[in-house]
Amino acid sequence: MANTKEVAMLFDASHCTGCRGCQVACKEWNVLPARLGLNANPFTGSYQGPMDLNGDTRLIMTFDEKPSGNKYHPIDWAIGRRSCYHCTDPGCVQACSSGALQKNENGVVTFDTDKCNGCTFCQAACPFDVPRFRPMDGKIDKCTLCMDRLEQGGKPACVHTCQPEALDFGPREEMLKKAHARVEFLKKKGFAKAEVYGENECGGLHVIQVCALGHEAYGLPTNPEPKKVINAIDVMKPVTAVGAAAVVGALAVSFLANLGYRRKAVTLEEAKASWTPEQRAKAEAEAAEIRKAAK
Ligand code: SF4
Ligand code: SF4
Ligand code: SF4
Repeated sequence: MANTKEVAMLFDASHCTGCRGCQVACKEWNVLPARLGLNANPFTGSYQGPMDLNGDTRLIMTFDEKPSGNKYHPIDWAIGRRSCYHCTDPGCVQACSSGALQKNENGVVTFDTDKCNGCTFCQAACPFDVPRFRPMDGKIDKCTLCMDRLEQGGKPACVHTCQPEALDFGPREEMLKKAHARVEFLKKKGFAKAEVYGENECGGLHVIQVCALGHEAYGLPTNPEPKKVINAIDVMKPVTAVGAAAVVGALAVSFLANLGYRRKAVTLEEAKASWTPEQRAKAEAEAAEIRKAAK
């Protein structure tokens, strides 16, 4: 039987004008800075900005031009939404070495900043490459579906601000019904590839999307699955956050590199730089214990 407590956001790409009001609302509500340097991209011909998520940017609208095959309007605009999709089967939660990430009863995946040790396993495990490391405080950041607003009976800030009603929010079953009705309508209008994305992916997402041009046009993966990051996570779970990060630093860096882990500007050693000598000593001691137990 369906969980009636589950909520979802509905993003209808066929209604989106690409205004990016949602991006701004997200920054404002969550008090996230917008550094000019992050937007200083070389000109690519794209209207997208910034080009990728980062520790201070939980949401970006993606802009893709696709040939339509129609000589009267040769280009189709695929405007997509890139943010956490709040999976029923969230790879990030499974991989989190400190228990900072959690799945809530309503389906929303939130995190506790105080518990995060900055190991970035969650980013490696997420099939959508969503969580991002914030060098400023050595923590992970991502969309929370504005859980603080939901707890007060409100809607996510991005949904609240969307003028053409490309975004909607409510019980998941209701959002799915609306999505299917819209796809049916779009198909009748000639959008042969129109489809619902998020009904079953990763056990069912809590951001349902109406992809007027088919999910590939928006860069969404086919049959995504949580990535297996490292089997040693279970070994690390019982230890403290500091100890777990030490194991990552001491044992797993090359392993993660082999798995295609993309470390951008910050290394784990840099992330650990803010630790006190006492924390470092404690971490090394715990790591030694774990190595011994794992033998
Ligand atoms: S606010 Fe609405 S219309 Fe504007 S970019 Fe976001 S989803 Fe699209
Ligand atoms: S989209 Fe990624 S970050 Fe969001 S819940 Fe799923 S696995 Fe976690
Ligand atoms: S739900 Fe909230 S945190 Fe998530 S993208 Fe929208 S405004 Fe940002």
